[in-house]
Amino acid sequence: MSEDKLTNFYQAVDALIDYAHTHLKLDPVDSDWSRNQIFALFGLNSYRPTGATGTGHERPDVIIEQLRDTGIAAGLFDESQAESLCDQMMGIVSLSPSAMKRGFLHDVEAYGGSHAMANLYNYSIKNNYVRRSVLDQNPRFDTNGLIVTINKAKPEFKSAAKAQAGNSVAGGYPKCSICHENEGFAGRTKFTLRTVPLTLDGQDWFWQFSPYGYLYEHGIAVNYEHTPMHVDRGTFRRLMDFVDQYPDLFIGSNAALPRIGGSVLGHDHYQAGGEKLPMHVAGSWKSFRSADFPQAEIEILDWHNTAVRVVSTDREAIEELSTRIHEAWINYRNDELGIIPRAGNDVFSAISPTVRLTERGYEMSIILRSNITSEEYPEGIFHAHPEFFAIKQESIGLIEAQGLFILPGRLDTQLAQLAQLLENNQELPAELNEFAGVFAELQELIGENRDADVIAQAIRDELGSVCQRILENTAVFKDHSITQSFLEDLGFTTEN
Ligand SMILES: [Zn+2]
Repeated sequence: MSEDKLTNFYQAVDALIDYAHTHLKLDPVDSDWSRNQIFALFGLNSYRPTGATGTGHERPDVIIEQLRDTGIAAGLFDESQAESLCDQMMGIVSLSPSAMKRGFLHDVEAYGGSHAMANLYNYSIKNNYVRRSVLDQNPRFDTNGLIVTINKAKPEFKSAAKAQAGNSVAGGYPKCSICHENEGFAGRTKFTLRTVPLTLDGQDWFWQFSPYGYLYEHGIAVNYEHTPMHVDRGTFRRLMDFVDQYPDLFIGSNAALPRIGGSVLGHDHYQAGGEKLPMHVAGSWKSFRSADFPQAEIEILDWHNTAVRVVSTDREAIEELSTRIHEAWINYRNDELGIIPRAGNDVFSAISPTVRLTERGYEMSIILRSNITSEEYPEGIFHAHPEFFAIKQESIGLIEAQGLFILPGRLDTQLAQLAQLLENNQELPAELNEFAGVFAELQELIGENRDADVIAQAIRDELGSVCQRILENTAVFKDHSITQSFLEDLGFTTEN
């Protein structure tokens, strides 16, 4: 092995250690130990200090690239091993799980939950658990009152079965992709994952950020126990407990059924994030009161799917009214609208609750969902309809139901192809046939104009319009007046 090539690797390791002192709270007492742990990975018994520094880097990307390139050049590992080994090296210089937990709990005590979360998020970017640089490369724009992103990093799961297969683990350890046992687990390249404890309604849960989060501070609260997703009265209490402690984040639960929710149904967890999503600012179409809780407001949201919001500073009011709406919905039947709550052992109706803390108190939004299928719509009557599958075929989960769409990475190339065709005034080739409807609408939008900027804007507008129509597909009541009857049957009365 060439000495020069090894020297380059030593430089990269020295830069990493220096970076970790500044950005990852690596105690200088642990410097030699950490460096030796890294050398042990490659059976290296020699080293000469190079004096290389890494303090100047705000993000870990350059450091990791150096470790990767110099390690491969020195013959220490090959391309296929690089990602896992770089993750392992980063894991060695990161705080231990116990030190991370102590630091987090100290921050909560000293500065409050929101500040502690922000610190943890920054740390997770610095130690490369949250791939912020990858995320920053994803196209993201506001359109039609919605937020649309194209996620170039995440695989597309077209069917619910595939999504679940994507999360199953051979050998059963850890039981699933979000079990706590993943902290530091090599099999999933989780050396840099650090979790922190949460207490929700007296239960032990933990928090972790999402490595490819779609929004600022996107993460999940997870039950320590590998127990199936479910939504009940306790869910409302746990969601409120979370925002009591971390008031800058919203948090919600996906519907606990396939095709309309998250991909990990086997393990109870909630999705949270530090951004205001479009549904959060949707106005009220009509307000109602309950005689039992006169201070609470119940609103039908002026929103594309079917969502009801319970607003109050009183936790008991939120819990009770949300439970009534939940129970009424999962027992509601309307054959004319195709809504059947269950048949035999099959359950079709569920809710996605999501809560924010605002100056009005708790705002608990309850999105009514159904995953029922028909011959015409085998993927779901209240799922994106087939004419939109070219844009989005995956389940419309909690984040999308609130107006932030994560579209598949393939669209990046496909939309560029469509733009080119429009610019050249060409017909749609057979291989892009699934875009026929979208393409026709784009032609309509641009008219005779072939200007690249006009076409780019038309594509953004069209994506926003399609995403809005997908949300309308998922609406169980296509007309707010039916939602009104549903609430009136519960004894809620309109204010005027
Ligand atoms: Zn699990």
